[in-house]
Amino acid sequence: MLDADFFRRWMTATAASVDREAERLTALDSPIGDADHGSNLQRGFTAVTAALEKEAPGTPGGVLTLAGRQLISTVGGASGPLYGTLLRRTGKALGDAAEVSEEQLAEALRAGVDAVMTLGGAAPGDKTMIDALVPAVDALGDSFAAARAAAEEGAVATTPLQARKGRASYLGERSIGHQDPGATSSALLIAGLAEAAGE
Ligand code: ADP
Ligand code: MG
Repeated sequence: MLDADFFRRWMTATAASVDREAERLTALDSPIGDADHGSNLQRGFTAVTAALEKEAPGTPGGVLTLAGRQLISTVGGASGPLYGTLLRRTGKALGDAAEVSEEQLAEALRAGVDAVMTLGGAAPGDKTMIDALVPAVDALGDSFAAARAAAEEGAVATTPLQARKGRASYLGERSIGHQDPGATSSALLIAGLAEAAGE
């Protein structure tokens, strides 16, 4: 079973990798965006870590809803409300249980990803974070490590796609040939989950 501490480790592991990879995320957002994705998420996950230290929620759902609120209020851009919705909706689906199973997490994350698709209107293949998140959720039934690998593959597979949502879509065919920054950061989020699980 997964307790609040597991979810806290998930968020702090993600914050650490976002810190390490911020320059790369911003570099990816340069040719097909406005070169702010790394700094946006770095600001957001720094706020998440600080809030979790201060408030220390006692449930998995509490950890994720607090993290989602922080992302919405600090990240800005397109990705802030989308990542915030992902974590808040996932947290809401976990309710106020003190511990949740891996199956419950997989189901809740599915609800979170669905909420992101509803909010942003993106489907798989549109060259967005959805291209990493959907395969990750599909693989989560197997293992955390499988989810991490699926998210990474999904992010890499955005390179030949033409963007149909977000800022990159304004470039039309010129968005082809670049890996999507949001799919790349989503792979970091899922890698953080595997790291929290020790996989
Ligand atoms: P902005 O584009 O406002 O500068 P960011 O640079 O922080 O925001 O985030 C860009 C990322 O957000 C994109 O790489 C993409 O993955 C994701 N994104 C943008 N629009 C959408 C959308 N409608 N649905 C899902 N993801 C999106
Ligand atoms: Mg940007």
